[in-house]
Amino acid sequence: MKQIAKKIGWRIYHFVHTNGLVADTVYSLAFYLQNFIRIRQYKRFSRQPVTPEELFAHRQLSREAYLVTGVTNICNAKCTFCAYPKVVANKTLETGVMPLATFKKAVDEWSALGGQSLDLTPVVGDPLVDPGLLEKLDYAVNQAGLKDVYLTTNAILINKNDTYKKLIDLGVAAVFISTQGASKEAYEKIYGVNHYEAAMSGIRNLMAYNRSRGEPARIVVRFRNHEKPSEIIRSPDFKKNIQPFLSARVRVNYTVDFDNWGGTIKPEDLSGNMRMRTLPPMLNIPCKNLFNFAVRHDGRVRLCGCRLTQNDNDDLVAGNLHESSLMDISKSPAAWEKIKGFYTGNRPATCVECTFYQPVTRAWLKERTSPTDSPA
Ligand code: SF4
Ligand code: SF4
Repeated sequence: MKQIAKKIGWRIYHFVHTNGLVADTVYSLAFYLQNFIRIRQYKRFSRQPVTPEELFAHRQLSREAYLVTGVTNICNAKCTFCAYPKVVANKTLETGVMPLATFKKAVDEWSALGGQSLDLTPVVGDPLVDPGLLEKLDYAVNQAGLKDVYLTTNAILINKNDTYKKLIDLGVAAVFISTQGASKEAYEKIYGVNHYEAAMSGIRNLMAYNRSRGEPARIVVRFRNHEKPSEIIRSPDFKKNIQPFLSARVRVNYTVDFDNWGGTIKPEDLSGNMRMRTLPPMLNIPCKNLFNFAVRHDGRVRLCGCRLTQNDNDDLVAGNLHESSLMDISKSPAAWEKIKGFYTGNRPATCVECTFYQPVTRAWLKERTSPTDSPA
């Protein structure tokens, strides 16, 4: 029964994502629907907020959290919807590549805690720029035994040295491709570089190789689209290089709305069909993403691995892996002060105007590991 439901679900998904008119309609409606639902939900959450005492007992790193090891914060693209080109131009980002020893320390601690999921994607930067990425992947999957190691890439470097084959052979659980669309002209305008052919052929090669091995990895092509979904679906490159490989484990999606990177990206940075996400109601309740930990290339540990405004070495940093364990950092007064500050409207700079803000909820709290501490 479950199998049949899954099959029907996949067929509906495939239909929506490969039919221009349907995809345009669904994605356009989703923009309004999402905002409507978000506002209603946040109102409900604000009536029964999770208290600081309840949250304190659940603040530590748990295996249900996401751990990100941002292997490098250097990128080979300059997307108009991303803070990366701005922070490079401002010279506020301190870039680097994570040494293998730092990576191993994070992975060993995470594995000892029972963690299974590991994201190799930095806040900004492309993981394939790290020349040691495959060695790190091999360590995490085949030595530390993590079952769900994944990354997001723009695919520009995925053909180089047959990286697409090695990712699959080493046991990556999922590859998420972030790319513009299926038009060279739009790609160059939005991604700011002329690597359209490299990315498109890399995506095809990855999908074809994955299929030839029985689809061990999930692949999702996430279009950060300037065009309407229908324009991508109609394009020769989509029909030739992507559509033939779609399956229950290999999918595409389009972008409903673009976030503002804590206010760094403005509506005027977007063009064509791109729409900016509306700022959600900012409640005096901590954000869920503060409980996902990101290890920076130099070992600094940051709450929330998803957004920055000027630098990833900012006031979301709560400690350093070379000085304490991940668990101790997650339970430290420094981390708790940042979380607790939300209750009095005192947020880290990146969180003040962040369209990704999602308050913690009672349902979310229930899913976390049982508390081990008493409130202070
Ligand atoms: S969105 Fe990704 S690929 Fe584009 S500039 Fe930012 S980090 Fe690089
Ligand atoms: S408000 Fe934004 S930057 Fe702050 S923790 Fe949430 S998602 Fe991250």
